[in-house]
Amino acid sequence: MGERRAARSSAPKDGDRRIGRRALLIGGAAAAAGTAVFARDELGHLWWRVPGVEKPRKEGEVDFTGARWVSASEANWRRADRPDDYGIDMVVIHVTQGSFDSAVKVFQDPEHGAASHYIVRKDGHITQMIRELDVAFHAGNRQYNERSVGIEHAGFVERASSFTDEMYEASARLTARICARYDIPVDREHIIGHVEVPGTDHTDPGPHWDWDRYMRLVRQARTATARADGEESV
Ligand SMILES: [Zn+2]
Repeated sequence: MGERRAARSSAPKDGDRRIGRRALLIGGAAAAAGTAVFARDELGHLWWRVPGVEKPRKEGEVDFTGARWVSASEANWRRADRPDDYGIDMVVIHVTQGSFDSAVKVFQDPEHGAASHYIVRKDGHITQMIRELDVAFHAGNRQYNERSVGIEHAGFVERASSFTDEMYEASARLTARICARYDIPVDREHIIGHVEVPGTDHTDPGPHWDWDRYMRLVRQARTATARADGEESV
């Protein structure tokens, strides 16, 4: 864990903010100022500020087929237009420290101040409460919130029985789908626990979460997704 933490902390931080500021400073000269990729990023940020150009949304729409939609309180997330305004390159794994129903309830509570995109139940049922387009307040770290999708698992970190076969399998399919959608590598640099977010005092998903098993399932599901989508390679 120590090594992984060190590697991540050396990665550039606050990239989105920097690009945003840069775009503001150089304005219309953006295209002349750097590489094509950079210019496209800057244009993306500027376009996002123009009203009416964000992606269309439909009430009740989910990003993962089969998930049930229950909206979180608007106080627990921030409207965005990802991945155009903020790139998504991470999935953060959480454990609720409570029942599935209590997690749904607190995410609907504006006083709670936090919520994840998804909650996975013991039987494999998945509820989505925040669109992947939007920034959920789940990691306790602004940059990590902006770049990630948060998945809660109903249960308790100290209770091994919280984590069932159905839960691992459903969550792995969800994570594989997210990785496919945003071209996120299936590895432990990009699929992390809340405990690994810099500055956090949270310990989830805890010692009973079987990372080897989970990553194996995500890789399998990712390969199956790629085949179904007719990708050349994974
Ligand atoms: Zn957490």
